[in-house]
Amino acid sequence: VEQGIGQQHYSQESDKSAIELCQRLGVPYHTFDIKTAYGFSIDDLHEMNAAIKQGKLNPGQLQYRGICSFCGMIKRYTINKFAKDHGFTRVATGHNLTDESVSLIINFFNMNLNFLGRSHPLIDSNIDALVPRVKPLFYITEQEIVLYAYYAQINHVSAECIYANESPNLEIKRIFQDLDTERKGLFLSMMRQYQKKMLPLFKPEKGLVKPRALTFCASCGMAASSNKCSFCRNKSLLLARVNDLKKGGKNNLPEASNPSNSEHAHVDNDYTGPEEDEFD
Ligand SMILES: [Zn+2]
Repeated sequence: VEQGIGQQHYSQESDKSAIELCQRLGVPYHTFDIKTAYGFSIDDLHEMNAAIKQGKLNPGQLQYRGICSFCGMIKRYTINKFAKDHGFTRVATGHNLTDESVSLIINFFNMNLNFLGRSHPLIDSNIDALVPRVKPLFYITEQEIVLYAYYAQINHVSAECIYANESPNLEIKRIFQDLDTERKGLFLSMMRQYQKKMLPLFKPEKGLVKPRALTFCASCGMAASSNKCSFCRNKSLLLARVNDLKKGGKNNLPEASNPSNSEHAHVDNDYTGPEEDEFD
């Protein structure tokens, strides 16, 4: 997914590595450019966020979210929809043990039971619009993956995303990553013990978490928790704000005449890390 990060630079480097690996393995690949498809890149949204923060742009009905939150929502939606549209039966993602452990810890800090109940490499789906997901690297740390890539001579982008330092979770990740380096195997034993002892408590029949009632998005037909999915609720609002900014921000269209005002704007605020807003 070409997200348009770092004036294309960061995204293009990532794409190049992924394409190279696909070619080496003889695996067909598809690329999807979000700017072409949706009218805005992640760089555009980052600029929009900065203008909103500085009071130079009226957010209207758009609820402010950090850039990683917007990026994650767009990526999850795009990959799931692409898989669905092309009849793929599984989506495999690169989430690793480091991401998953940090995510588990942060979800524990927030006592976010919904996300605590999903800490598993297989995320099945009983709804047709949601393609089941697998995480083949779930039990392998980020450092081990980098080491493997090095010895297998797999070209990879080792730099963090240029916006990573804006994620509220990066500092927490660094602290726990250091701890895992200090006490080797901490993440793996925590995850194994968690899955053995805690995860069974989240089975629906235990009643600890209510299963989310899912329906279909009226706009795109994908899974949603209300009549529109999170992506469709945000897409036109984001495009309107990005266009406002190009036309000069606050001095532009008065909010009342902005057509996007009629849209229902609902944003889930419970930011919990990589697995936020799983279904939408
Ligand atoms: Zn939708």
